[in-house]
Amino acid sequence: MTVAPRFQHRNGTLHAEDVSLTDLAKEHGTPLYVYSRAALHDAWEGYARALQGRKSLVCFGMKANSNLAVLSEFSRLGAGFDIVSGGELARVLAAGGDPGKVVFSGVGKQAWEMQAALDAGVKCFNVESEPELERLSEVASTRGRRARISLRVNPDVDARTHPYISTGLKENKFGIPIEAAPEVYRRATRLPGIEIVGVDCHIGSQITEESPYLDALDKLILLITNLKAEGIELQHLDLGGGIGIRYTDETLIEPVTLFNQVFERLKNAGLGHLELVLEPGRSLVGNAGVLLTEVQYLKHSDAKNFAIVDAAMNDLLRPTLYDAWHGVEPVVPRPVTSATLSYDVVGPICESGDWLAKDRRLELHPGDVLAIMSAGAYAFTMSSQYNSRPRPAEIMVDGTRSHVVRQRETIESLFDLETVLPQT
Ligand SMILES: *Cc1c(COP(=O)(O)O)cnc(C)c1O
Repeated sequence: MTVAPRFQHRNGTLHAEDVSLTDLAKEHGTPLYVYSRAALHDAWEGYARALQGRKSLVCFGMKANSNLAVLSEFSRLGAGFDIVSGGELARVLAAGGDPGKVVFSGVGKQAWEMQAALDAGVKCFNVESEPELERLSEVASTRGRRARISLRVNPDVDARTHPYISTGLKENKFGIPIEAAPEVYRRATRLPGIEIVGVDCHIGSQITEESPYLDALDKLILLITNLKAEGIELQHLDLGGGIGIRYTDETLIEPVTLFNQVFERLKNAGLGHLELVLEPGRSLVGNAGVLLTEVQYLKHSDAKNFAIVDAAMNDLLRPTLYDAWHGVEPVVPRPVTSATLSYDVVGPICESGDWLAKDRRLELHPGDVLAIMSAGAYAFTMSSQYNSRPRPAEIMVDGTRSHVVRQRETIESLFDLETVLPQT
């Protein structure tokens, strides 16, 4: 989980594995998302090694990157999936994923989504409120079924990450306050369409310290122990996702260290029989992708220098949304000299928030191709067509080969579904 070694300069040109990014930009145009299959496998291996011999299931938090090629790779590696919508369930099935390894999270599940997930036979619904529990019981029992559930509890721990991606605090919309959970579990035992199987939490994203996980775990252990004393037995504990990646110089959680402590604490609490479920998203894909973009214009003013590129906030929203930092690497770097300027790398969209990087000292010429690094997670999946910009193509590199795993959208497709009013 270090900065993607699968993207490296060779003979002066940035490559994805054995494929030159200059060649890919020429062949497919820019902006262009490029993923490395080997980097996906590396990230998966990090979890597989840390969990070796343990009763565990890794469910890829697929909202980070839901391309079918990515899903099918993880599925073949044995992953389950953490889904948050009926659309994501359909993607899992289309990619050949095992619905028996799917957990269904999200605060606003609709009846049709519950039905589809029951029909598919998902492993577990992570229920986030009492009204959701009631609805799920009704949907399941009217079809003569019982839905397997965990309650997503909110352990009120501070993941110490960006407020938009912190989800385990009392004031967040997610989950059931942990103090209220026992009562909701009791209610669940009395509902005809519900089978209790676990407990779940997800405290945030881009977490770089172990302590919030361990604090949450201790609270969950207490809850599980109290439930057990009441005769409510759980089979699994889901600690969610959230492990951070290196965008710049972050110190990272070492999965082995974290999970060894988790299993140790479970064992000490007499809960060694529980299956550990995890929902990592970002840490499986974030550093497995880059966004290629071509410099269009260099614009200089007294206050600022701008590199105006052909990618924008509609392609990569994270800088605008979270003030996120992404590395910027010229695909064919030019030597930096004392005359080299610092640039804000910005897109063509009519918003001041349309920027990808700020104050980067780069030697640039129009026509240069830049790689926006660490763009494998919450990148394409958050893209839009704002300003009527077709979304980029997505490429998966595998050794010396590359595959188009999503075609560039066409201009016509932008208004395919629209009609003008009839003229009277
Ligand atoms: C987004 C999300 C994840 C994945 O989070 P990462 O920070 O990408 O690992 C896991 N579980 C739930 C419920 C989520 O909403």
